[in-house]
Order: sequence, then C-alpha cells, then structure tokens
Amino acid sequence: MTDVIVIGAGPAGVVAAIRAADLGAHTVLVTRAEFGGMAANDGPVPVRTLAHAARLIREARQLGQCGIDVSEPVLDYPRLLTRVREVVDDVRARSSFRPQIDSLGVTVHEHAGIARFVDKHTIEGEGGLRLQAEKIIVCTGGASRRLSVPGFELTNTHSDAWGLTSVPPSMLVIGAGATGVQVASIFNAFGSRIQLFQTGPRILPSEDEDVSAAVAAAFREAGIEVYENILNIESFEKTQTGVRMIFSRDVVQETAEATLAVVAVGWAANAAGLNLAAASVETDHRGFVKVDEYLRTSTPHIFAAGDITGRLMLVPQAIQDGFVAATNAVRGPTMTMGDPVSPIGSFTNPEYAQVGLTEAKARQTYDVVVAVVRFDSTTRTIIDGRKMGFCKLIVDRKTCRMLGCHVVGERAVEIIQVAAIAITTRMRVDELANVPLSFPTYAGILARVAAKAARELNLKVSWQAHEAENTGYMLRERKNP
Ligand SMILES: Cc1cc2nc3c(=O)[nH]c(=O)nc-3n(C[C@H](O)[C@H](O)[C@H](O)COP(=O)(O)OP(=O)(O)OC[C@H]3O[C@@H](n4cnc5c(N)ncnc54)[C@H](O)[C@@H]3O)c2cc1C
Repeated sequence: MTDVIVIGAGPAGVVAAIRAADLGAHTVLVTRAEFGGMAANDGPVPVRTLAHAARLIREARQLGQCGIDVSEPVLDYPRLLTRVREVVDDVRARSSFRPQIDSLGVTVHEHAGIARFVDKHTIEGEGGLRLQAEKIIVCTGGASRRLSVPGFELTNTHSDAWGLTSVPPSMLVIGAGATGVQVASIFNAFGSRIQLFQTGPRILPSEDEDVSAAVAAAFREAGIEVYENILNIESFEKTQTGVRMIFSRDVVQETAEATLAVVAVGWAANAAGLNLAAASVETDHRGFVKVDEYLRTSTPHIFAAGDITGRLMLVPQAIQDGFVAATNAVRGPTMTMGDPVSPIGSFTNPEYAQVGLTEAKARQTYDVVVAVVRFDSTTRTIIDGRKMGFCKLIVDRKTCRMLGCHVVGERAVEIIQVAAIAITTRMRVDELANVPLSFPTYAGILARVAAKAARELNLKVSWQAHEAENTGYMLRERKNP
C-alpha cells in the first residue's frame, strides 16, 4: 500500500504531491488529463493570453494619440489560438513543479481517466489502474456549473473558445461573475456584439458596489449590452444562425439571440465521477467536499484541497491548500489554513481588483473612513491616457489600519498586490502614506489615497504624501537645480 495518493494534477494536487513526497511519503499522483489542471490548460494561462491580445488591440487603437499612424488592427483568431497553445506549452515547460515531482520520486499517472473510490483506501482509474493508500488527497477542482433548462446543450462554456475557428459575430454571456465578465470583455475587444446577462441587481456581485457600477458603466461605454435583474432563464432554442435564449425580466418574457451563448453561472465541484459515497466522504449542499480546518474530510484519512472544497477558487489558495493538506496527511493534523489576505482581480477592460473587505461589509462591523482617488487625477494615468478608474481605501477609524482596498482601471490587479502587502503586514494608513512610492507610477495612487484617509483621521503624514505626486517631481527639481 502506498503512503499517499493525490487525485488531480492542478495547482492543489501538484503541490500536495510535492509536499507529501518532500516529507518522505511514498506518493502517487493520478490525474484524468494533462499535468497542470485548469490553471495551466483551461483557466488563467490561456485566458490571460487572450486578454493580452485584447489589450494589444486596444493599445494599437491608442497609437494615433501619440502621432503613430497604423491601420485598424485585424485579428486572425486561429493564429491567436496558435499563440495560446505556444504560451501554454512554454509555461508548462518552464514550470518548476514537474522537475520537483520527478526528482522527489513521485509516481505520476497522467491521462489516467476519471479516478473513483472503490472503498476508503482504494481508487480505480478508468483505464484499469487500481491503487491503495494509507492517505488520499482529493484535488479534482471544479467545472462550469450547468443550468437545468431545456436546450442547455446548445450553450457553450469559456473552454469552447479554444475550439472556435473564428470570432463569433455575436455572443450572449450568461453570468457576470469573474469568468463571464472576462469572456465578455475579451470578445468585445475582438469585435463580437456582446449581450451580458446577470440574474442579480449588479454585475460582479462579490465586488465592492462602486466597482460593479464602474465596470458596468465602462462595459456599456465600450458597447457591451449589460442586462441586470434577469429573473429567470427559461430555455435555449436553435436558430438558423445560432441560439436564442428565452428569459424573463420584470415578469415579462423576453428573448435574445446570438451566434453563441456562453454560460458562466458559477463553478461546481468536479466530484461527479469520484464515487465519494464509497469512501463516506460528505459534500455540502452545493456539492463541494466538506473539510475541517485541517482540510480533513468526513473520513479523517482522506483530505481535500483546492477548488473541490468550494472556498476561494484561485490558484494561490489552491497551492496553499495543497501544502496544508499534504502536511496534515503525512504528519497528522498540525497545520491550519488561517485567514490569509487574498487579493483578487480580473484582466478585463477596465481591470478591477480587491483585497480585504468591501465598504458594505466593513461598515457592518467597523466605524470606517473611506478615501477615494480617481485615476484622472494621477500623473501616470494621464500620461498613458488611462484616466478611467479609481482607488478606494477603507480604514478602521479606531486602529487606523486598512480593512480593504478596491481598484478599477489600468493595472488594478498589480496595484492591489501592494495594498495586499500593506494589509497583511498590518501597516497603519499613515505608514503607507509615508512610503515615498516612485513617481509617476500606477502604484503611487496608494500613497495618495492613504494620505487622504490619514488626513481625515488627523494623522501626521510627511510632506511627500501631503503634496501628493507632484512632490516627486519637486524633489528631483531640488536635487538637480
Ligand atoms: C476562465 C478561468 C479563469 C481563471 N483565472 C484565474 C486567475 O486569473 N487567477 C487565479 O488565481 N485563478 C483563476 N482561475 C481559477 C483557477 O484556475 C483555479 O482556482 C485553480 O486551477 C484550482 O486548482 P485545483 O488544483 O483545485 O483544480 P484544477 O486546476 O481544476 O485541477 C483539477 C485536476 O483534477 C483532474 N481531475 C478532475 N476530476 C478527476 C478525477 N475524478 N480523477 C482524476 N483526475 C481528476 C483534472 O483533470 C485537473 O487536472 C480561473 C478559472 C477559470 C475557469
């Protein structure tokens, strides 16, 4: 019997296997398809490559502002997909994970088909593989949630982008969470007519309300038709040129048509084929595997990590989970996940990102000071012609520590990483304001917004922050008279 079997070779499974083997356990990694999972093959890496192409199209259109004349960019979608495959292969080839797995002696069964539990210590692969272990770590990730409505088989998911031969003339995007807005934004830049549908009152429902409103406004300005407050999606029908969606809004039945309908209404656990009942592993009401603080399932020698647990479904969290689950599987329950600060963001146009609490959530518990600096008041965004957006900082009036930061606009995802460090290290807002961040940068907006909040809290801030970015310029002037 093996010490540890890890099922699934996404970020959670790969790190779990490395950690278990590093702790001396004889480890086997079994995965349905390619090494790397969603992140490498179907999620962030390929989608970010499409988003990069969308950005290049936007930037090409901006060249005229700087006196550079070029013709309107034309996208060759099959060539872009070739580029996506090159990037995916390159990222995989340069990943340090595979050499680590190999050097630690982990046995890897790639393309093993769907693994299923036979009993609490035994799993079987589709191709006849049968393995037994003392401990098992389930890292099978998630999959796009399906809608139980007639005609659902006529719809697509984001994964179908890899099989298209050209950019569809029009697209219905159903669901305006992180995946839906990325699909909408990217294919809008590629020239599709996009209709984006959200059942709740606002797109990006887990973002700060100001972020949702700003992204929705920018999407509309870019020509995306955003429909909120959809009551019910009733069915899909085939049309001569594509698909029709029948839905209700304000109690009135309506229809919308396009070449493609992409459904992105959430993420479900990839648990269907696992036969969890054979191992007495329980799931929650949404179908995700239930885990305790040590990432143990209801069967204590079986652990789960990553998207399959249904918590924050992101690569860094999956990696942390994999490490913790494997540590506990080998050493016994000693390590917990804690409550790490988790920056989240998306590569849409405009980008948006958050860390910590939204303003509404913070106000439920704290007396807060909220400061906002708009992108049209910072030097770098003016230079780059990227004046749309803002940075919002939420500060606890009592401790003067930052509770949350929300950014919409160019480089939002990068800016929020700096805010995440400030929040993780429990900096006070005046301490952040006093860091002389470089001028003229996007991240510089954080010192501005921190200075604004600090002033409201009557905290002393240095002259650099008081005088905002222009002081960076003045400082240089003084040094080089
Ligand atoms: C469009 C999109 C964009 C995203 N963008 C980002 C982003 O920008 N940043 C970010 O941090 N996250 C992003 N994510 C989320 C990120 O991809 C996931 O959180 C992450 O991949 C989860 O890792 P995981 O190891 O839990 O699961 P996965 O990466 O899903 O890996 C699961 C593995 O298990 C295998 N498997 C499944 N069932 C079985 C079975 N029964 N037997 C054997 N093997 C099985 C699968 O084939 C796969 O290899 C994005 C996701 C999507 C869909």
